[in-house]
Amino acid sequence: MSALSPQSFSIEPELPQPLKGRVVDTHCHMDMCEADGGPTPKTSYELARSVGVERIVQVGCDVRGSRRSVELAKELEYVSAAVALHPNEAPSIHGQAGLTLLEAAYREITELARDPQVVAIGETGMDFYRTGPEGRAIQEESFRYHIRLAKDLDKTLLIHDREAHEDVLRIMDDEGHPNRVILHCFSGDANFAREAAERSWFCSFAGVITFKNAQTTREAAAVVPPELTLVETDAPFLTPVPHRGKRNGAYLIPLTVRTLADVQDRSEAEMCQILWDNSSRAFAGFESPDSSAVNDGTDNVLGQD
Ligand SMILES: [Zn+2]
Ligand SMILES: [Zn+2]
Repeated sequence: MSALSPQSFSIEPELPQPLKGRVVDTHCHMDMCEADGGPTPKTSYELARSVGVERIVQVGCDVRGSRRSVELAKELEYVSAAVALHPNEAPSIHGQAGLTLLEAAYREITELARDPQVVAIGETGMDFYRTGPEGRAIQEESFRYHIRLAKDLDKTLLIHDREAHEDVLRIMDDEGHPNRVILHCFSGDANFAREAAERSWFCSFAGVITFKNAQTTREAAAVVPPELTLVETDAPFLTPVPHRGKRNGAYLIPLTVRTLADVQDRSEAEMCQILWDNSSRAFAGFESPDSSAVNDGTDNVLGQD
């Protein structure tokens, strides 16, 4: 564990109370936290470990970020990597550099994806908020490429869906689903949460559920089956209340976990155990650091192991 504590390290926003259990941050960009003037990935990781985040999935959004994610997964013991071209990245490469360079980027992502440190393909998906109609054909093609890659390598698919719920369902149903699918930063309503649950997809909730105006997302979180619920920070973005406007970090995840526990009407310890168990199923080969030794007193709350 880390030697860091609220007393020994000054950080802004300050460290929250440690969780009454351990969780996995299933979606974090520690490289972007650093690029934004925040802590180094090692410090991000140690801060997170000090409040109960035992593992972090470090997500790449372009070739450089994906390469860096694999490096960090090798450097930091309980960090795993996800690699992909973000849904806004593929149209951007295509627009600026053309098809040849886009295809070269796909080849590099495919190579990186084979690394055993890579547990997921993502983030990929559809984003109608930042990509306009002119980029959508490329965006869809990119999503389909990543879905096939996840299936070929049997890795978890990490989906970014912004204002594109119907298209995500259409394309996924058309391609056929990989074995493990996560909707990252879930942003749909209760109906979309039910659509996801019918397909046994995990829904991962970020700091958004703490926002005052996110009642729809909280209603969705309330109907997601407990065994399909995950948590993430998407740091440096989506900083939870009361720190909105400041840079997010994996160490702020307790604020989101506590809101999730309230919404799903559970104790914090129970929520942590559920999230931990789900994370182990959401990523194959995702052994916990000391899975057999740990008993938080909340084992098997869902009757599964
Ligand atoms: Zn995203
Ligand atoms: Zn992200």
